[in-house]
Amino acid sequence: MNNFTLIRDRFRARSLKYTCFRFVNLFRHYGMTPAMIAQVLDDFVRLLTIRNICPTFPVTAMIVHRHPQIFQRLQDKGVEFAIHGYRHIDYTQISSGEFRTHIEKAIHIFRNNSIHYKGFRFPFLRRTPKHIQCLSEYDFLWDSSEVISWPLPSVFPISDMRRHDYQQIIHTYQVQKSQNILSLPWIFRDILEIPVSVPDDDILSERLGMNVQEMHKIWRQILEETYERGDLFVLQLHPERFLIYRSVLARLLNVACRMETIWIASLSEIARWWKDRYNTVCDVTAGDSGAWKIHSRGPAASRIRLGVCRLKENKSRWTALPSLEYNINTVDKPVIGILPPIKKEMIDFLRQEGYLFEEARKDQAYAMRMAGDSYSVKKKQVIIRKIESVNKPLLKLHYWPDAYQSAISVTGDVDGVDFWDYCTRFYGK
Ligand SMILES: [Zn+2]
Repeated sequence: MNNFTLIRDRFRARSLKYTCFRFVNLFRHYGMTPAMIAQVLDDFVRLLTIRNICPTFPVTAMIVHRHPQIFQRLQDKGVEFAIHGYRHIDYTQISSGEFRTHIEKAIHIFRNNSIHYKGFRFPFLRRTPKHIQCLSEYDFLWDSSEVISWPLPSVFPISDMRRHDYQQIIHTYQVQKSQNILSLPWIFRDILEIPVSVPDDDILSERLGMNVQEMHKIWRQILEETYERGDLFVLQLHPERFLIYRSVLARLLNVACRMETIWIASLSEIARWWKDRYNTVCDVTAGDSGAWKIHSRGPAASRIRLGVCRLKENKSRWTALPSLEYNINTVDKPVIGILPPIKKEMIDFLRQEGYLFEEARKDQAYAMRMAGDSYSVKKKQVIIRKIESVNKPLLKLHYWPDAYQSAISVTGDVDGVDFWDYCTRFYGK
């Protein structure tokens, strides 16, 4: 596919009004030299580092190639970078072979300039399972391109045209709605997919025309909902708009810091934790006194927490156990007994969700029994609901380390550092 077709397809996802508005804003956000955005990036990082927060900035490799010193300096200050394509194009519009070439060129640029990376974010958040398969052939730990959309508060009036623009962009992202799915990482073909939450700054400001107060309310609502649910909020604020929304970000992070049980981490920290948690095993054995003894082993054993699920008033509630070596008193073994044949997909699902399980023995009573071949991606939410409606105590690994109840990560895609970068982001050999 040629450059003209790529650009044309991007503009089809936008109304004429949005395109004009975006073009005018570009002049406000980008200077003719890198100095303005370099200063903005410094301010952005300062706001985070004084709160001990490490951001993750996905950057298009061509931008690193043009301005390596900017990114080397930020890396020295503790910023984490990820690859945001070789060029800023929709990778679903080119062949797998061309995509591989782009990955290799991007990796080469990052390595040549000593910019470390562990993750990838697709430009326009557009990719297919085949693209993730490609990423798994390289040394990426994570991708953060799946999109979870959170509902907008009904109190904010939105015109039909704005709503139409919003629906258009949501459609191109192929979003998952937060009402239907947990906002949590998941491992797919050895790559950890870390979902990013929308509405992001781009949607809120340029599609929906929200002001600073409205934006704060919407992000605050996502923060509170992810906290309630024990989910992850991956926030996206493009550095080009940082100066406008600095106060929104500062207020939100002040709230998160005050809550103390929200884990604020970079995407690589989250990815490492999730993989360690996946590889941690908890053994549940019968103790002498009739209570069940729990013992954990594996890379996350020192930071893992266990929860016990109990049904109260027809609602399942997870309660954290005081310690890992806790003894739990219940007649039935508080794990899931899996009946053979057991498919690999079932084991993978249970380990990712953190449920404790074992191959069912005939002489053992369990919190619940499940057929080992009953899992499929389509049935995932149904199976979770079934497990969490169990009326006997059941053990599960907590999603987050230590005493954290939920998590938030601050990310900002760097699509350019000067006006020239932005205008030529579809090009470059
Ligand atoms: Zn981008």
